[in-house]
Amino acid sequence: MAEYLIQAADYVITIDDARRELRGADILIRDGVIAEVGHGLESSGEVIRATGCIVTPGLVNTHHHLFQTLTRAVPGGQDALLFGWLKTLYPIWARFGPEEMRVSAMIGLAELARSGCTLSADHLYLFPNGARLDDTIEAAVEVGLRFHPTRGAMSIGESAGGLPPDALVEDEKYILGDCIRVIDRFHDPRDGSMCRVGVAPCSPFSVSRDLMRESANLARNQGVMMHTHLAENAEDVTYSLERFGCRPGQYAEDLGWTGPDVWHAHCVKLDGQEIELFSETRTGVAHCPCSNCRLGSGIAPVREMRDRGVRVGLGVDGSASNDSANMMAETRQAMLLQRVSRGADAMSAREALEIATRGGAEVLGRNDCGQISPGKRADIAIWDVSGIESAGSWDPAALVLAGPQEVRDLFVEGRQVVRDGHITTLDLPQVIAQQTRLARRLAERV
Ligand SMILES: [Zn+2]
Repeated sequence: MAEYLIQAADYVITIDDARRELRGADILIRDGVIAEVGHGLESSGEVIRATGCIVTPGLVNTHHHLFQTLTRAVPGGQDALLFGWLKTLYPIWARFGPEEMRVSAMIGLAELARSGCTLSADHLYLFPNGARLDDTIEAAVEVGLRFHPTRGAMSIGESAGGLPPDALVEDEKYILGDCIRVIDRFHDPRDGSMCRVGVAPCSPFSVSRDLMRESANLARNQGVMMHTHLAENAEDVTYSLERFGCRPGQYAEDLGWTGPDVWHAHCVKLDGQEIELFSETRTGVAHCPCSNCRLGSGIAPVREMRDRGVRVGLGVDGSASNDSANMMAETRQAMLLQRVSRGADAMSAREALEIATRGGAEVLGRNDCGQISPGKRADIAIWDVSGIESAGSWDPAALVLAGPQEVRDLFVEGRQVVRDGHITTLDLPQVIAQQTRLARRLAERV
């Protein structure tokens, strides 16, 4: 595999154990791994000049629904709360098929890559018209991002008291069988893995208790992680109290959904006891600040979570509720949102960047990623700070506060996926044309 020397970066923000920030430093990449970090390094490989740049670990996205890049800013869903928003979108999603899943995932992953993201989870929970998890995995292989797809599911339709239409729910036995199929086919547990599969029933309001419990058993038997939505807003908590007679944290605990192999999206409404439960059990959280703002869900208590030792990563969430998928913008929003409720010292730019990189990697069980340190995987973002956004700043934390919000170069497993702002792995204009054609077809039938 190619060797690269990233040379003479203005700053390398390592987020290593000592949280070093190195001036004028080099990074040597060999065989997909960071071989050396220091000054005056030499290499026979390609030299990437990084003068005028800040180099950070690749950002890690812990929650997404890539298919939703085909339903950004849909009329009728633009100003609704969670449940109303879902009910607007379900009938549109019911018309998706394999091509929609594959193309929307390529667009979503390319968009993430340009914003510095090297590793993304995805939560796909509906499989209409022959769509499969495989469609999104093919897209990730093509784009070249490290990918943690989760096999989602919905099994309680409207007629049984759930939220989704009956046409979008699946049989529970089939769901569990398909989880095993995709784990057998795609899951790679090794260091440096480019694909790890997770098990992810959509939410307490769209699957049964049995499916939650059996999914947890299945995931633990197979040695994969588990993911779902939890305590996203007030409606979600009310549903839990009325239907299950307990708060979401209790529901999760009762069904085996706490532990270091579990991460929950949102957790906006966790109370003090639930935060303590997540801390004790090492349960992870995917914090999605833009989506929480867009749907008016509230401000997740991230400060309290972090102070009590809860593992927190960031997620852009699906593009029907963000509606952009820019990881650096998400990082800035995470910092700003804590300050709205807790004051200007509630979260620093450096802490937000740490949550977006190392924090997310830890939530996804990837201790081989998320920092620039010898022996870790070569997932690296290079940000050009010679442009207008950076003119006038001299502290590297300005990257989060001021931008830029798109990378110049991006390496994933030592492979250059973005060069001079362009995706190297795709004919992006052609994929955008495909996406536009598919979106038009969906819009015409609304
Ligand atoms: Zn979500």
